[in-house]
Amino acid sequence: MQKFDCHNDLGFLPKEEIHKLQTALFNAHLKHLRNDSPYYREVLARFPDREYSLEELQDFPITDKSDFADFGQQFIAVPREQIADLGFTSGTTGVPCQIAYTKNDLARLAYSDATGFLSAGMKPGDRVLLTCTMDRCFIAGLAYFSGVVALGATGIRNGLNTVESHAEILMRIKPEGIVGVPSFLARLVRYLEKNGLDGHSVRTAMCIGEPLRRSDLSLTELGEQLNSYWPGAAHSTYAASETQSSFAECNECAGGHAAADLVIPEILDQNGNRLPEGEIGEIVLTPLQVEGLPLLRFRTGDMGFIIPGDCACGRHTPRLGPIVGRKAQLLKVHGTSIYPATFTAALDAIPGVDEYYLEVTGAELSDEVTVCVSIDPGHPELSSEVIRERVATRTRVKPKVKLVTLEDARLHVYGRSRKPTRFFDLRNIK
Ligand SMILES: [Zn+2]
Repeated sequence: MQKFDCHNDLGFLPKEEIHKLQTALFNAHLKHLRNDSPYYREVLARFPDREYSLEELQDFPITDKSDFADFGQQFIAVPREQIADLGFTSGTTGVPCQIAYTKNDLARLAYSDATGFLSAGMKPGDRVLLTCTMDRCFIAGLAYFSGVVALGATGIRNGLNTVESHAEILMRIKPEGIVGVPSFLARLVRYLEKNGLDGHSVRTAMCIGEPLRRSDLSLTELGEQLNSYWPGAAHSTYAASETQSSFAECNECAGGHAAADLVIPEILDQNGNRLPEGEIGEIVLTPLQVEGLPLLRFRTGDMGFIIPGDCACGRHTPRLGPIVGRKAQLLKVHGTSIYPATFTAALDAIPGVDEYYLEVTGAELSDEVTVCVSIDPGHPELSSEVIRERVATRTRVKPKVKLVTLEDARLHVYGRSRKPTRFFDLRNIK
């Protein structure tokens, strides 16, 4: 049997078989950590070298981003000649940490995304327009492309190009699939509509990096915009690059599945205790079958939950619900706890808001949110006061509103990182 075969979705196996498979892979993973990872050799020294059950996973220590920053190279578990690709992740100290991928890890990533894309409805032979970068050490971009190739579809790597250029490809090639950040895809859709262009060939839109749904699974404003242009196409995918794991919505669009043999998710409360299905906590992932940088119980910093019960699609893997926010980004504004995503969803819902970002400063007891907005000149009714009121209606928090030029907004959002950045946390900057 081929090791990573995306056309044989193991999620459809009976629960007991998945459990058996994961138990075997978990123990092989522990062995690899113990034998080959200098960091984990030390961490696991106090655990007897025996077989463990999946339930015992919660007895093992958590791995934090700060461990990466402190012990970087010691996480790498293969000799240098086996490293095929070197990526980076931003460390907690600002020093980028290395992630080493072997050839097998790259094949594993391709399998991971191909499995997700297939479950979302992509098909062999589809042409797929990729609107995210593959360079700048951005592993997810490479993983999406390899996933498209692995499932037997065709990648069109137009990358971080202009809206006009993507529209031109949509007209000329009529691709069936598209991969990108929802806010960018929504911008593309608005451009197509405004110019009377027919970009309706897309059947599957894989949305990355920004929420597409709320916790109750209803579509966010961006999700609605995509869905009204490409009915039923928008599917969310969540990836945590350190763990080389991705969760993609199947055609039920009720939470994301990961390939059954690649990762074990847990949701933990503030004290590190495992939470039951349905409860919101921090997503902690144990990736399986990773060679270069194997991890045990990695804290993603993302807040989410497992959707209770089985999925109607018939897969028996857990479903990760929409990401609620970043743990570190939880704001306290005049006594209300709120994630930045609540503000962005409110702003996405205001027609005429062209681009925006949030700045948060903090006094000791309360955070102060400033919403920096550029307005489409075709909407003279929008003033900073009107925006403030509309945001307050949805969030129950009245932020400061600052009007900025489109250039300023774009520079903030797209100028600093590989992903669009709309949240600037100035709380700890003196
Ligand atoms: Zn499903």
